[in-house]
Amino acid sequence: MKLSRRSFFKIVGAAGAGMAVKPEPADASGPGLQDTEYGCLVDTTLCVGCRKCEQACNQRYSLPKPIESFEEMTVLENERRMDETSYTVVNKYYPKNIGTLTWRQRPTFVKFQCMHCNDPSCVSACIVGALVKQPNGMVTYDAAKCIGCRYCMVACPFQVPAYEYDEPLTPQVRKCTFCFEYVADGGLPACAQVCPREAITFGKKTDLLDLARWKMKNNPDKYVDHIYGEHEVGGTSWIYLASEPFETIGFPKLGTKAPPRLTEAIQHGLFQFFAAPIGLYAALGATMWLTGFLKETRHGATLPAATPDQVGPDDAEPENAPKGETP
Ligand code: SF4
Ligand code: SF4
Ligand code: SF4
Repeated sequence: MKLSRRSFFKIVGAAGAGMAVKPEPADASGPGLQDTEYGCLVDTTLCVGCRKCEQACNQRYSLPKPIESFEEMTVLENERRMDETSYTVVNKYYPKNIGTLTWRQRPTFVKFQCMHCNDPSCVSACIVGALVKQPNGMVTYDAAKCIGCRYCMVACPFQVPAYEYDEPLTPQVRKCTFCFEYVADGGLPACAQVCPREAITFGKKTDLLDLARWKMKNNPDKYVDHIYGEHEVGGTSWIYLASEPFETIGFPKLGTKAPPRLTEAIQHGLFQFFAAPIGLYAALGATMWLTGFLKETRHGATLPAATPDQVGPDDAEPENAPKGETP
């Protein structure tokens, strides 16, 4: 198959992506970039904020139509977040410091969606396994397993999962699916397919990182020296290039440790720290159990009944207690 330059930048090294997609959960013991993992590279310097990606995603998943049409560009003036009707949104950020280069004088448009983290907090938080990190890198959701606890919403460092509060019967958690079922059939994510500026490249994560580094090396004045998502929260399947520092264009400043590993480390530390007082807790537990046992037996038949001179004020029979009945 001969790839045009246009096709190349929409899809990099993704041959066999469909075959790589198997509904088996990834190894939960920890992340590590596998050659079977796919992702998207978003070059924000190419995005013009046309919202075609939003529209394509909306249509592919038959999401409710927005109040403002997708041709309405004034919506970009307000920072938006993904919700249960929008798996992806494009925001517009004006440069904080106008540089000398002309391309710096334009606003930066950023497409946001689920980042499909390498070691996702949502997956770790989901107690019923409704969210799964697939071997191909995609984080999928199974509504049939979901119990609506919304722990995933609290856990996500990017505040991505949304909940259908207006759905009375079968509310679901909603987020970008990475077009899992379409990619499994050898297709492309709708947003990557439609982007007229080739700002979104789909492909193997390793190839995308190579492409991002190549772009940065060949355009050192164009990009800040940072691939967002390469290391944040242990790495994400969606990675970004930009001409402005990421914290000025809507990205949270996050550490490199995946939150699930962080909480795991804290838990392990706590257990280690509490190893010595465990004896104390055991003793306290035993005391409480014994106290409960004594109370029970005192009212039961195991211990001999207290004589009148042994009865304290707390044990005295209430004045209005019915005669012949045990209070
Ligand atoms: S379709 Fe491409 S250029 Fe248009 S807003 Fe989306 S990412 Fe930007
Ligand atoms: S961005 Fe949030 S919802 Fe998406 S995979 Fe990461 S933790 Fe889960
Ligand atoms: S990958 Fe698919 S579900 Fe995710 S934002 Fe793009 S079109 Fe929407």
